[in-house]
Amino acid sequence: MIDKTELMTDPMTDLTTDRLADAWKHIHCASPVDEADPVALECARRLAADPGGELAHVWVSGLLSMSDYLAWRPGRAAERASFDALRAAAKALGDRSCTHEDHPYETEMDPYGDEVWAGDNGLLTGEPTVQGGDSADTGRVLCPANVAGWARLAADVLAPFTVRRIPAGAPEDHHSRMSDLSGIVNDYPYCDPAEALADEAACLPAYPTRGVLAGYLVTMNATCWYAASERITERSVLDAMIEGVRAAVPSLRDDPCTHGPGEHPDTGDVDHLSQVGYLLRSPGGRAEFAEDQGWGDAEEPEGEDEPLDAWVCSAFLRALAEETLNTLTGALESFGAATDTP
Ligand SMILES: [Zn+2]
Ligand SMILES: [Zn+2]
Repeated sequence: MIDKTELMTDPMTDLTTDRLADAWKHIHCASPVDEADPVALECARRLAADPGGELAHVWVSGLLSMSDYLAWRPGRAAERASFDALRAAAKALGDRSCTHEDHPYETEMDPYGDEVWAGDNGLLTGEPTVQGGDSADTGRVLCPANVAGWARLAADVLAPFTVRRIPAGAPEDHHSRMSDLSGIVNDYPYCDPAEALADEAACLPAYPTRGVLAGYLVTMNATCWYAASERITERSVLDAMIEGVRAAVPSLRDDPCTHGPGEHPDTGDVDHLSQVGYLLRSPGGRAEFAEDQGWGDAEEPEGEDEPLDAWVCSAFLRALAEETLNTLTGALESFGAATDTP
């Protein structure tokens, strides 16, 4: 392992690729900024210097493996530089033609959802991973289209809805959640609603990405009406939802809202909301949602599209969480009144 003092005293620019690769393996979501930012910045700097170059796969691999840190609370400069370098790599590598029918990143994005850093994508060494195939597939792992694909996934995790050309399709288990929740909010549940809602309330990770956090808060809002409608008879379910939302709100960033009047999403349709809550939680789900909203697959977003990034806007999500909490706490009062009645 790289020594912390070495990182502090040695100029990062002098470190060899191996030492850097060793350093970024030790960066995780809760790493201190003064330790992690220099590592991420150096990796981004090297990728940005030659985004379509021979070593691009190494630097993309580095930013991918640090994307749990970069998606949580990095310094602004490290976050910006990493995002820009990933976008530059996607652009430089994405249009080269190849003869492959598909690439490993497409099959590997499903099990990880938004956690693109989990597992081994093989980019660092060029070794194919289990999901990616056997040793005959090295060419597909290091194919520019595969490297570009991973760069897009990581960029989309850092800044949801800013990247095009991600294969559409939420992970399978998210689709199964969506159908359970749709059944509940439409009042024809085919699972135990109390159990399902308690599970949902408890499922927010400690360091959620922006997409996962937004999805969680949207799901809580989509289901709070049902929970507050006296169809749920266990008070503990409402308590768990309230506790979950209260714990989630401080994870929202302080970014200012960049949207104009009327640009925040319409949340009136709870069925739609229950779907979006899960589509927000993965690059494939977000691409599926964007496709439904008529996004094309040009590399750069076109101006006239609906601003889907409003779904991850902190101001929008704070207001949504407040509405959720008001609805649930209001329903708790009637619980109290009901049980107090002799
Ligand atoms: Zn290829
Ligand atoms: Zn906004």
